[in-house]
Amino acid sequence: MTSQAALRIAPIRASVSDAEWQARLDLAACYRLCDQYGMSDMVYTHITARVPDSPPGEGGHFLINPNGMLFSEITASSLLKVSLEGEVLYRPDLPYGLHPAGFTIHSAIYRARPDAMAAMHTHTIAGMAVSALKCGLLPLTQTATRFYGRIAYHDFRGPERDPGERDLLARSIGARNYCILRNHGLLTLGESVPETFIAMWGMERACQAQLQAMACNTELNLPPDEVVAKSCAMYDPPNSRRYGLLEWPGLMRKLDLADPSWRD
Ligand SMILES: [Zn+2]
Repeated sequence: MTSQAALRIAPIRASVSDAEWQARLDLAACYRLCDQYGMSDMVYTHITARVPDSPPGEGGHFLINPNGMLFSEITASSLLKVSLEGEVLYRPDLPYGLHPAGFTIHSAIYRARPDAMAAMHTHTIAGMAVSALKCGLLPLTQTATRFYGRIAYHDFRGPERDPGERDLLARSIGARNYCILRNHGLLTLGESVPETFIAMWGMERACQAQLQAMACNTELNLPPDEVVAKSCAMYDPPNSRRYGLLEWPGLMRKLDLADPSWRD
């Protein structure tokens, strides 16, 4: 039985714009990939995408998971559409609503960062563990150098249920695209869903590698600062392509082979 059959969500392709539908497809794919790559936490985190043609005067709208659906069940038609003030503009006929912390974190980003079109938050074991280290993410591996000096850190003040937390979070993130929520987890944002997902993929693996190296109980070898800085600079245009665009079609093929119901 597919997830769509199990949940019987009415398809909404005909009632939304082409731009919104594409955002829904990308975001539904991102939820499925997050789960397939072991980065989901049952129903407890959230990934969002701004609706590209939502009214700018209202600050825009964004798409988010209904709180209660597993990431492996998410489809394009199942995603909630929410205003930056927390009004749910569309929800499928399910007994699931808007997660308060999901609203706080993601609306904070879309309010403060007009360039952000997607945001992804995880509670992986590796992400939570590095978030609890005073040293944070170290440039121990080539993968980690991409994030060197570019990670914002935001102190833990309890679950983000209070909309007043939005200004504090926006201040912590500033102009950065990668954030470690201390004692909590990881957060990435970007100009597209693919870019945001691939950033999270890299940050997650950098965290895993750091923890395995630190667990070996022997001296760590950090590359020289100038090598780290040179390596970090190579991850940006014009020295590099934009991450995500090359990878995304292959990831869609992978999803379609496993279960194409995310497109519903
Ligand atoms: Zn969280």
